[in-house]
Amino acid sequence: MSRYWSDLVSTLTPYVPGEQPQADNLVKLNTNECPYPPSPKVLQAIQSLNGDSLRLYPDPESVTLRRAIATRNGLRPDQVFAGNGSDEVLAIVFMALLKHRLPLYFPDISYSFYPVWADLYEITSVRVPVADDFSIEPEAFPAENGGIIIPNPNAPTGRLMSLDAIRALLRRSARSVVVIDEAYIDFGGESAVPLIDEFDNLLVVQTLSKSRSLAGMRVGFAMGNEELIEALGRVKNSFNSYPLDVVSQAAAVASIEDEAYFEQTCQRVIRSRETLAAALAQMGFAVLPSGANFLFATHADMAARELFSRLRARGIVVRYFDKPRIDNYLRISIGTEEDNAACCCALKALID
Ligand SMILES: *Cc1c(COP(=O)(O)O)cnc(C)c1O
Repeated sequence: MSRYWSDLVSTLTPYVPGEQPQADNLVKLNTNECPYPPSPKVLQAIQSLNGDSLRLYPDPESVTLRRAIATRNGLRPDQVFAGNGSDEVLAIVFMALLKHRLPLYFPDISYSFYPVWADLYEITSVRVPVADDFSIEPEAFPAENGGIIIPNPNAPTGRLMSLDAIRALLRRSARSVVVIDEAYIDFGGESAVPLIDEFDNLLVVQTLSKSRSLAGMRVGFAMGNEELIEALGRVKNSFNSYPLDVVSQAAAVASIEDEAYFEQTCQRVIRSRETLAAALAQMGFAVLPSGANFLFATHADMAARELFSRLRARGIVVRYFDKPRIDNYLRISIGTEEDNAACCCALKALID
């Protein structure tokens, strides 16, 4: 605390990202990165850049990238907004579309950045309890609201909401914006993108950080009705005209255009997830059904907190949230087959 700080800054409780440990002999299963490299075409695109393209400012509107995203998703470029990671896109969404007279609603168990943005922008928010099995029911959200945001699949539980449930939520909440944060949708879920033409209050947010192995590049995007997208552009251009640099734009286009590599990578992660889920169940873990690239699991005989620190001592880093309702769960990102086997092996030793 300093006397130079604004009153608002003094009240903030910032988001704490998962650890990025410096030691390189660790098995890192804590921040849901993809265990496989990005498409080779991404590296080619970066290598083919020359000094001149860096001398100039990047395209402020990421036109080529937005066109590529639009084409892949059956949309028009004016239905797409791109930003510096979906965290930045979401921060803009909160300011542009979710600050209203009525409160913003999100699940009590969901991405822990949501309450941070709500506080930053002084948005009143209400947490809607998820069911005991961590599923999300559309009826749990009030019809009158200042906006709704839900990760699908949910983070950190991995639970998927069906497209029917999302449609019911959009009908119910027809007078406000419903944001579906699809950071993990590519690992077997059904995207809400096809509902965009049907519902002008739907905004879908995706990222290249997980399924496209580009967490280090920082590219995220939102898709929705052009008026929603225009609102995001108005905030962006009142804050930072160039959120995406030349390298990121080129890399992201190459990634979006390599559908075959993307499909193959996602399928590989999904297969590993099912193998790891079965192995954990064998050891006595209750594992939630996951539509994401991580598993959320609890063990009847061993406290998650203890498993977390004992795994860390063995060089295996997973994520533990010391939060109500989930403080006996571990969130384990899906790694390579070898990473997952190492994790299982360590857990077996701890449990026996
Ligand atoms: C990882 C994640 C994000 C942020 O992704 P970036 O594009 O890397 O900023 C957003 N929402 C959820 C639910 C996530 O898990």
